Amino acid sequence: MSNQYKIETKCIQSGWKPKKGEPRVLPIYQSTTFKYDTTDEMGKLFDLEEEGYFYTRLQNPTNDAVAAKIADLEGGVAAVLTSSGQAANFYAVFNICEAGDHIVCASTVYGGTFNLFGVTMKKLGIDCTFVDADASEEEIARAFRPNTKVLFAETIANPALVVLDIEKFAKIAHEHGVPLIVDNTFATPVNCRPFEWGADIVTHSTTKYMDGHAMQVGGAIVDSGNFDWEAYGDKYHGLTLPDESYHGVVYTKKFGKKAYITKATVQLMRDLGSIPAPMNCFLLNVGLETLPLRVARHCSNAQKVAEFLNAHEKVSHVNYAGLPTDKYHELAKKYMPNGTCGVISFELKGGREAAVKFMDGLKMAAIVTHVADARTSVLHPASHTHRQMNDQQLAEAGVSPGMIRLSIGIEHPDDIIEDLSQALDLV
Ligand SMILES: *Cc1c(COP(=O)(O)O)cnc(C)c1O
Repeated sequence: MSNQYKIETKCIQSGWKPKKGEPRVLPIYQSTTFKYDTTDEMGKLFDLEEEGYFYTRLQNPTNDAVAAKIADLEGGVAAVLTSSGQAANFYAVFNICEAGDHIVCASTVYGGTFNLFGVTMKKLGIDCTFVDADASEEEIARAFRPNTKVLFAETIANPALVVLDIEKFAKIAHEHGVPLIVDNTFATPVNCRPFEWGADIVTHSTTKYMDGHAMQVGGAIVDSGNFDWEAYGDKYHGLTLPDESYHGVVYTKKFGKKAYITKATVQLMRDLGSIPAPMNCFLLNVGLETLPLRVARHCSNAQKVAEFLNAHEKVSHVNYAGLPTDKYHELAKKYMPNGTCGVISFELKGGREAAVKFMDGLKMAAIVTHVADARTSVLHPASHTHRQMNDQQLAEAGVSPGMIRLSIGIEHPDDIIEDLSQALDLV
């Protein structure tokens, strides 16, 4: 009955369920392979006739326990873990798209996702139209084509901190007979569960708050099991027609609500192989146990810092949905009543030059290409994560040249503010 538990309990109790005499703590199954007694037993696994472990590229017990926990946290039916958030977003889309298909994506998505969809997947013949997530339903609907297979967005866009109107996006997606995929990395299932608002599939960079200690790079894909793949003829034929690489298995027929995740596991993982190491899944699981405690602290610290920056004379603008004056405050109250995330972006009156001076003057907050871990860190998107974009792309991504992205850690808020304050004095 784990579905009845509150999220704090699920973070501890879901996933690994030891039987009599087994280790209480999730063991690291550091083994590529698994033993069987007869040739026939193993043969059945290769034909998907029976379930069981045989090779870690497809499935591993440590990884599966953590995937099950994340599925439970999101309220989904199944999940698969990947070696990075990038791999998660690639697989989530590639699982239902192929050459000749098209996707629609919010333009404010993470820089890595923007490149993946806008450049790399184009080379595979999958076209992407980027849309303004704040645009009207009619305007977003105009981006759809007969070959559109996916609508994609982030709950809280990294780094523009645009809060997604999930219900609006779900409505548009479903009116066009496509699933809504939401990257829920920044909100985490502690603050928002997109399935409750109509999203069909959720992805994560578990590298961020889920791990929370900057110890491993990882990703996850979770399926709600709600999208009816068979309702649209052979539009999603990879799921609804026979897979010749498994002697004609039809995923929707054989695996029901778990069809999408099963296909991603047994077909994409088999062929492309971006699995996480069991050791990394173990570390991720340790992070997940304290996720609700950390997220609450990240949010309360970020709120205090956002208020401090907002009142500072050298700061021209602060993006943080927790501020009542923020453009996304109302959406955040609806979708994330307990808080959004620990990431703030802001701008100094002195622009790019002042940003560099400020960042170089920080003593505790470190300049790192990372967000969402226990330590306060800072980054300049225009010269770091979004470096490959031109000015127009930067504007569409909600990144101005002077924007500073600040990831608030779980240190004492007074110490964080003191560090920011002394660096602002140097500007
Ligand atoms: C970091 C991030 C990614 C990419 O994840 P990696 O684990 O770095 O590959 C994708 N989406 C969002 C929102 C992110 O913040």
